Amino acid sequence: MSTQSEFSLIDSYFTGTTSERDDVILGIGDDCALLQCPADHVVAVSIDTLVSGVHFFADVDAETLGHKSLAVGLSDLAAMGAKPAWFTLAITLPDSNEAWLQGFSQGLSKLANRHNIQLVGGDTTKGPLTISIQVHGFVKAEQALCRNQAQAGDLIYVSGSLGDAGAALQLKLDQWHDEQLTEQDLQYLIQRLEKPTPRNGLGIKLRDYATSAIDISDGLSSDLGHILNKSGFGATINLAELPLSAALKKIPHETAAQFALNSGDDYELCFTIPAARQQEFESQFANECSLIGTIEAKHGLRIIQLDGQQQIMTGAGGYDHFSA
Ligand code: ADP
Ligand code: MG
Repeated sequence: MSTQSEFSLIDSYFTGTTSERDDVILGIGDDCALLQCPADHVVAVSIDTLVSGVHFFADVDAETLGHKSLAVGLSDLAAMGAKPAWFTLAITLPDSNEAWLQGFSQGLSKLANRHNIQLVGGDTTKGPLTISIQVHGFVKAEQALCRNQAQAGDLIYVSGSLGDAGAALQLKLDQWHDEQLTEQDLQYLIQRLEKPTPRNGLGIKLRDYATSAIDISDGLSSDLGHILNKSGFGATINLAELPLSAALKKIPHETAAQFALNSGDDYELCFTIPAARQQEFESQFANECSLIGTIEAKHGLRIIQLDGQQQIMTGAGGYDHFSA
């Protein structure tokens, strides 16, 4: 876009909507932003694109979408142990609907300001609704939580509860329902799908403990699979230990456990801790993290089912390469 309305739109909805940081030498308005990185840190960078009808329902509330578009990027920074600093936004809009833009901008800036991350530039174009956000954060190179550093014997933890977003998606698609769920439960689940809480505070604290970390965007089985793949190990996890919300505890355990194991969009963290540090870690984090399994030298992902039987994950979740 290069019309006057493009610039007034940028001015109205994107310039000055996030709080100003001292390390932004020059923000929105020039050909590039000029940014100051702390001397002893590296910049962690990640980009995600959300496409209407693919990553979100076309009729989703604008504020909710603004929140989620940034939350997924913040979650990547959390999984790297990086402190949020700046982001850029490339947005493609079918039209310049002011009420929609107002809502979107509000959802975005509210979450941004909560994490002290500043919008420093972007691009605005016309076309089918698509949002790309690139986030930048700081971390000391040696403290970054990479996927390839899990060790055999490490304990596997996840934050929060799993499966809520997946259950909400099935609800929204009318592909699943459970009579035990109250209106309040349904609202809770939908909110977990639409307004995920990235675990940035936890991610930064994990620098002192975790050997590896990933955020759960595609589903635990798949995302833990990335840690195993990159680290060159296998694992056993216990289905009965997967943390469930109060809402998912109301439905049959087997169904809830499958949501927790295989469905995505929860944006919780999955990470590994040396076994020697279990007590120390749990004394501080037992209320927000759950122990679900162990990294093992033997390749493959083994799941202890609710009936105690062991199953080897193959094929499912698109990671045949783990079959033992
Ligand atoms: P250029 O043509 O030099 O690429 P643009 O005309 O695309 O610049 O954008 C003008 C300024 O507004 C730039 O600083 C750009 O980073 C910023 N900008 C454009 N769109 C957005 C947006 N959606 N959010 C934040 N900043 C934006
Ligand atoms: Mg441009």
